[in-house]
Order: sequence, then C-alpha cells, then structure tokens
Amino acid sequence: MLSDTSRPIIAATAPVVAERIPFITPEFYRRMFGARPDLLDGMFSRSNQITGEQPKALAGSIVAFATWLLQHPDSYPETVLSRIAHKHASLGLQEDEYPTVYEHLFGAIAADLGDAATPEVVEAWTEVYWLMAHALINMEKNLYASQPNDKPFAPWRVTGKEISGGDVAVISFEPADDTAVSDARPGQYVSILVPTPDGIRQPRQFTLIPSPAGTRRIAVKLDPAGEVTPLIHEKLSIGDVYQLSNPYGDLVLRDTQVPLVLASAGIGVTPVLSLLEALVQRGSEREVVVLHADRSSASWPLAEEMKKLVAQLPNARIETWFEEGTDGDHQGLMDVSGVGIPADANVVMCGPLPFLKAVRSQVIASGHPAEKVFYEIFGPDLWLVQGTES
Ligand code: FAD
Repeated sequence: MLSDTSRPIIAATAPVVAERIPFITPEFYRRMFGARPDLLDGMFSRSNQITGEQPKALAGSIVAFATWLLQHPDSYPETVLSRIAHKHASLGLQEDEYPTVYEHLFGAIAADLGDAATPEVVEAWTEVYWLMAHALINMEKNLYASQPNDKPFAPWRVTGKEISGGDVAVISFEPADDTAVSDARPGQYVSILVPTPDGIRQPRQFTLIPSPAGTRRIAVKLDPAGEVTPLIHEKLSIGDVYQLSNPYGDLVLRDTQVPLVLASAGIGVTPVLSLLEALVQRGSEREVVVLHADRSSASWPLAEEMKKLVAQLPNARIETWFEEGTDGDHQGLMDVSGVGIPADANVVMCGPLPFLKAVRSQVIASGHPAEKVFYEIFGPDLWLVQGTES
C-alpha cells in the first residue's frame, strides 16, 4: 500500500512522468547497458531496445502500477503483474537485478526531470518502484518454486525441423541432460537462447505447441527484419543443442463450461493449438468456435493439425478468413460481426497487435463484455488489458 506521504506526490507527478517516458526510457537503457552490457547476453532482447518497445513497456508499467495504487489503495493489478512475472521467470531474472534497474532508471528520471526531481519526488517514486519490485520478486519466487528443477535454462536437442505455411519452422526438441522436465500448461511458452554471430545469446519466447510427453515443440515464424528468427530458420539443425527455459505464461485454460471463442491470425495459431489439444484431452463438450485469419490458405501454419483437433471436439466449429483466394469461408480480414459469438463466451485472441485491436473492438462493439475478452501478445506488452481466460 502506498504511504500517505507519497500518495499526493505520486498523484501530482504521475502525468508528468507518463509524458516524459519516451525521453526517460532511451536514457535509462543507454545507462544500464553502458554499465552492464552482459545483460544483453541471454536476458534482454536488443531488438526491443532498438525499437524502443521494451523500455516503453517497462517504464509504462511502473506508471500504470502507480496509477492503480492511487485508484485502488488496497490491491495490486494482479493480472498485469502476473504477466510481467511470467515473462521475467522465463528469462531467469533474479532478485539481485532489481537494484540495477532501479539505479539506472532513477538516474535517467533525475536527469530528465532536472529540478522537478526533488528529494520528495524521488523518494515517492522509489517507494512505488520497490512496491512493484517486491510484488514481482515474490511472484517470480513462487513461479521458480513451482518448477520441478531449479535451473532457469536447460539444454534441449533439436530432433525435428520442418516448414509449415511457407515461412514457419516447426521445431521439436528432446531433453539433452537429466534436468527434470516440467509439464507445460496449455498456452504457455518457453524462452530460447539463440547464439548470435557476435558471440552473445539472444532470448526470445515461443509458445509450446502439442508434443509427446517429455518433449517440446515450437513454431517459429520468420521475421526477415528480425535478429533471432532468421538464425533459427537458417542455422538451427537437427542434433543441435539449445538452452530452453521452463514453461511460463498465464494464458491458460480454466475449468469452466462456458463457450469458448478462439480467434487467431497467422502465427497466433500456436496458443490456440495447445488450448484445443487440452480440450481434446479433457474430452470437453464445451461449445468452441475457432476463427482463423491468414493471408491465404497456403500461408496458414499448422492448418491440418488445427482442423484435426477441431474435428475431435463434439461441439467445435471453425471459420476462416483469407485475404487472397476464395477457398476460405470468408474473403478479406476477419470480421466477427456475423459469427454469432455466444453471449456468455470467453473470447481468447492471439495474433499481431493490429489484429488483436481490430477484433477486440469488433467483439466489444457487438455488446460482448470486455472482461470476457482475453489475449496473448507476441511482444512487449504496450497494451495492458486482461491476460487470462477465466
Ligand atoms: P526481433 O529481432 O525481435 O525484431 C522484431 C522487429 O523489430 C523487426 O521486425 C524489426 O521491425 C525490428 N528490428 C529488429 N532489429 C532492428 C534494428 N536493428 N533496427 C531497427 N528495427 C529493428 N513468435 C512465433 O513465431 N511463434 C510463437 O509461438 C511465438 N510465441 C510468443 C509468445 C510470447 C509470450 C511472446 C512474448 C512472443 C512470442 N513470439 C512468437 C514472438 C517471438 O518471441 C519473437 O518476438 C519474434 O519471433 C521475432 O523475433 P526476431 O528475433 O526474429 O525479431
């Protein structure tokens, strides 16, 4: 709970700090990686620093946390914190990194705000920072403790690699040592460390797709402008050993019988496949409406696998939208207005941000309650809404 001393100071300065985030964050990351370049080896994505998305997400989440504390003095924004803690745990972040982030973030804030960063203001924001940090540290400790091993990363050997949908590499792994393997919950992801030509390892997250017990399988869409996916597509070969994290992520299937709508676009199929497989394994009779959008039927990754899973569910159906060709149920971009979303359905969306925004707006415009719309986003979360199906 925020102290009475800090509360009015945070209320007065939150708008200013929020406005200055675009200027504070590049300076923060310049300072931190200047002092600790090792953090780019296996911990931070350097592409996210270059594009500015990660710094914005981090500093933005602190302001969002402060704003929450002002409006809800007796609680924490659990959903948002949980999403961040899962991502941190997948990177193996430890408690002793929090003072490093504090030092450089607050150095950057003080430099940007100048005289406005009085000792009282710095103290109030320091309190917010540590309230958030301690909440995350606790969650992360629980997440680590829930695993059957104490290793953030373990070696996994590549046993299969095939191309699906034109530009998606489907990769299978088996354990390469005797580290106990955690069961993944449907919809969870792992971080993979990929060696780069300049001698560091860059982490990226990939959702686990259905695979035999004790193995892992991921589907990696090639981003020609990216750093890691071209390395995975070009360099990763059968027999190679990569470091994978334990599974994390809070987009999981809850025990409920309400209808479920799964809307995906492109590589957003990955969490949907895991959720569908879990429903099949549970012998679910839930009403399930699967909606998928893609450029064309040929670019739809893992299409046969998805259709097969849908066919195994007694009350499931699938509708497709393709921008090119006439072999889908609909032409063009996804439009859910005619789908007939069941009134009490949970809606889970996975895909690129413009798709998530468009479909979420359509669903809410149709009168569906916002609290029943969930999403998984494949990047730093600049759009904080809800993250779990319930
Ligand atoms: P990055 O290097 O991260 O680059 C991304 C973009 O940043 C580029 O397109 C480019 O526009 C820009 N950029 C990069 N470098 C520069 C530069 N030097 N200068 C300017 N701009 C630059 N992906 C999947 O394919 N399948 C999944 O199942 C999946 N699941 C995910 C689950 C979660 C929870 C998350 C967070 C992400 C998931 N992702 C998934 C996304 C994945 O983690 C990567 O972000 C994605 O594959 C791109 O990685 P990359 O290294 O190739 O691109």
